[in-house]
Amino acid sequence: MTDLEKIAAMPKTEVHLHLEGTISPDTLWAMAARNGIALPVTSLEELKGLYVCENFDKFIKIWLMMCSCLKTEDDYVGMVDGFVADCQRQNIRYAEVHFSAYNHEKFGIGADRAFKVVTRRLQEAEASGGPVTRLITDIPSEAAPESGDFTAAFLEANANPLIVAMGLGGPEAGFPRAPFAPYFDRARRAGYPCVAHAGETAGAEHVRQAVLDLGAQRIQHGIRAVEDEAVLTLLAERRICCDVALSSNACLTGYTDIAKHPIRRMLDAGVPVTLSTDDPPFFGTDLVREYTLANEEAGLSLAELWQINLNGLRYGLADVGLRRRLLLEFEAARNALGIPA
Ligand SMILES: [Zn+2]
Repeated sequence: MTDLEKIAAMPKTEVHLHLEGTISPDTLWAMAARNGIALPVTSLEELKGLYVCENFDKFIKIWLMMCSCLKTEDDYVGMVDGFVADCQRQNIRYAEVHFSAYNHEKFGIGADRAFKVVTRRLQEAEASGGPVTRLITDIPSEAAPESGDFTAAFLEANANPLIVAMGLGGPEAGFPRAPFAPYFDRARRAGYPCVAHAGETAGAEHVRQAVLDLGAQRIQHGIRAVEDEAVLTLLAERRICCDVALSSNACLTGYTDIAKHPIRRMLDAGVPVTLSTDDPPFFGTDLVREYTLANEEAGLSLAELWQINLNGLRYGLADVGLRRRLLLEFEAARNALGIPA
């Protein structure tokens, strides 16, 4: 078995993936037609062209357009089923998925209904063999402060069995992390750990704020921490894991060459990282491809990739018993596949 065959076969974790961002152009095209929603394109081919992301502004516009096409419970079920099928195809056993309550209140079927439908479908998938999925409810920064207050109130009012954290998504430019602290404090008081996007399209200062002001336990991306040695040290000393997405970063950040991606410097500095796809159809990728790129272009060995994979469980936010059970399952698979520890 080659290393790439082992990567494809091994059980995997993915902890930085937006559920809405898994919707393929084909699914979106059918959904918009079904719901009578006009898209800014006249053919599926044109829509596929629109999916090719070149910058964050274009990306966020398409992303919001996509959210506005989810209009029925069946649309949400279809989105979850597509995600589950992708996990099964790639042997992704544990996922933490970002799913924004605010956008579905604003554009979709309402946050309560959206979470009920998504939770039920994910639980059914887990009961019938997996993947095991947990949810992170992000504040979309572009709609702050309304989105911050809404998300905190949503978390305070609910005890959804799959929600494991509050997060912060959306654009970084013009949206420093520190002003979101009151919402993160409310979430923590309500019992939720916190994570935050930072250091993707803005610099290391946002990573510092996410750690010090928001108390984030994990950072989505965090790659621009390498631009400030002190921030890199902060992440390493506090063992804050960064959920890296190579293809997403190559499309939306200045780190366009994966051979020069900061992931190697982060690892060398002792910062724990995971690998994910973020929004796979927008970046023409899936998790197997991300691991392959990490191996072939970023130069990470199979043993390093295995540790990165386990970090999804070690730094994951599901309950310890579940993560421990999966760690044992992963260890058995590593032995069977002959992957070096
Ligand atoms: Zn993300």
